[in-house]
Amino acid sequence: MTHLWNNPKEFAADELKGFTKAFADYVELVHGGVVRSTESPSGQVAMLVGGGSGHYPAFAGWVGPGMAHGAVCGNIFASPSASQAVSVAHAADNGGGILYLYGNYAGDVLQFGQACEELKEQGVDARMVMISDDIASNSEENHRDRRGIAGDLMVVKVTGAAIAEGYDLDRAEEVAWKSNDATRSLGVAFTGCTLPGATEPLFEVEEGTFGLGLGIHGEPGISSHDMMDAEGIAGLLVDGVLKEEPAREGGYTGRVAVLLNGLGATKYEELFVLYGSVSDKLEAAGLTIVGPQVGEHVTSLDMAGVSLTVMFLDDELERLWLAGADTPAFRTGQVDKGVKRSTPVAAEVVATIEAGSEVSAKQGAAAKDILAAFEERMIAEEAALGKLDTFAGDGDHGQGMVLGTTAARKGAEKAVEAGAGLATVLDEAGKAWAEGAGGTSGALWGNALREVAKKFDNENEADDALIGAAIVAGAKFFAQYGGASVGDKTMVDASDPYAAKLDEALGSSSLAGALKAAVAAADEGAKSTEGFAAKKGRARTHGEKSIGHADPGAVSFSMIVDVLANTLK
Ligand code: ADP
Ligand code: MG
Repeated sequence: MTHLWNNPKEFAADELKGFTKAFADYVELVHGGVVRSTESPSGQVAMLVGGGSGHYPAFAGWVGPGMAHGAVCGNIFASPSASQAVSVAHAADNGGGILYLYGNYAGDVLQFGQACEELKEQGVDARMVMISDDIASNSEENHRDRRGIAGDLMVVKVTGAAIAEGYDLDRAEEVAWKSNDATRSLGVAFTGCTLPGATEPLFEVEEGTFGLGLGIHGEPGISSHDMMDAEGIAGLLVDGVLKEEPAREGGYTGRVAVLLNGLGATKYEELFVLYGSVSDKLEAAGLTIVGPQVGEHVTSLDMAGVSLTVMFLDDELERLWLAGADTPAFRTGQVDKGVKRSTPVAAEVVATIEAGSEVSAKQGAAAKDILAAFEERMIAEEAALGKLDTFAGDGDHGQGMVLGTTAARKGAEKAVEAGAGLATVLDEAGKAWAEGAGGTSGALWGNALREVAKKFDNENEADDALIGAAIVAGAKFFAQYGGASVGDKTMVDASDPYAAKLDEALGSSSLAGALKAAVAAADEGAKSTEGFAAKKGRARTHGEKSIGHADPGAVSFSMIVDVLANTLK
């Protein structure tokens, strides 16, 4: 349960405000997250960490000398948007390139990937490394397709130390991959977590059992087991991570960095009880523990549970793991505190919106009304969509769609007030949607709307044929951008049949008639997802649990196109 909040939807922003006030010696608030409030050497790589909020100290708590230069902070459990990632990059850039480190989740991959592209277009070299330490979430051969959990700390610590030593962008990227490849985690959950303002946890662990293979976004464990004592759980975790111990030859000789991580509602005393057994077992396996960490480093709101992370060390990784760092939440060894920046980072430049022709502005205003109708429907469906996202996802799809459509409506309103034409109104709305919602669906919807905007201009009146073609292009975009196909259990199961049907029906009927016919295809596609397991997105880890329930993104897609068919005039 979360007891303290103002507006639950603004929890992440409110939290960040208090955090930056409390740690002003370390961090400064910027658009999209935080950056160091101290000077960094000119030419140094800027390492940015990030992801959704709800995991403190990850990620903002790791900003400071020896670790990250900034953190991109999304809403609770939702990836930040590409525009936020770009904004934090500009604020943190020292002229040595940008390296994003984040946990491997579909939404983050889309958004940070897009941010890298945008930065490169602007002449800034930008790379990204996805952390994938959770052994429960995929096979050993597919190690880099696993999700990131508490191993985030080790990869960020090692890479930050490398950059402080003077590694350039190529070498920093290389050591980030190397440390990720050497890191393995496994966790157990005792209770689920509750989103701020919600009355029920995202999942429940049955009395007398625990979930093995936890996620850090309220995803339930991969399997359920009868409760054991600490000794038993220590055995399970140690055996799990050591199954993937590399051969003790070459650089690795049995020295390991160890992290026993609390998920948010497990007492430090309990962690120490468990660590006593864990360290005994690691030593009994002939391992030497280097720089152990026991505490809360990557949390999942108020979830009770623990995870064990081991990094198999060579000399380079050991040196970097033990090097000094000084951040709000992680301090070790000796490091220069750094000099406070004399001038605050430059405020973001807000582009002005240009007015369009009278006829195009009128169509822009009509588009804004449609977006307002999307918002109204999503507010009505928020709880139902959130529920659908709990079976295999993280329960935030309803919230994401409300945040996204609200932001889109507001973005459109601002453009309409400035007299913008149809293309600009939709483009501003798309940008705002991606930023306001974050997450996988925010990236998809925001960019799809921008794709629709590209078909229009701000001068000429768009006729029915052009509007129909633009909607088809927008619907096709979901598959192009996210790489999913029909049958993967994503919104593409609704958007692809919708696009195909709309395209076909436009040949023989009016725009209004074609839109109605296409809604039926989207509905049918969304309904079909009940029958199979998720293969893409966050839900793929728990794919089997999603059978019998429709994909939340496909359901919300068919709701949105239903509203579109009823409001487009
Ligand atoms: P997140 O998964 O980041 O929490 P949401 O909960 O808002 O984001 O959205 C989840 C939905 O995103 C899923 O139900 C699915 O429809 C959609 N989705 C996930 N991955 C993809 C993808 N690669 N392509 C298209 N849609 C996807
Ligand atoms: Mg979700």
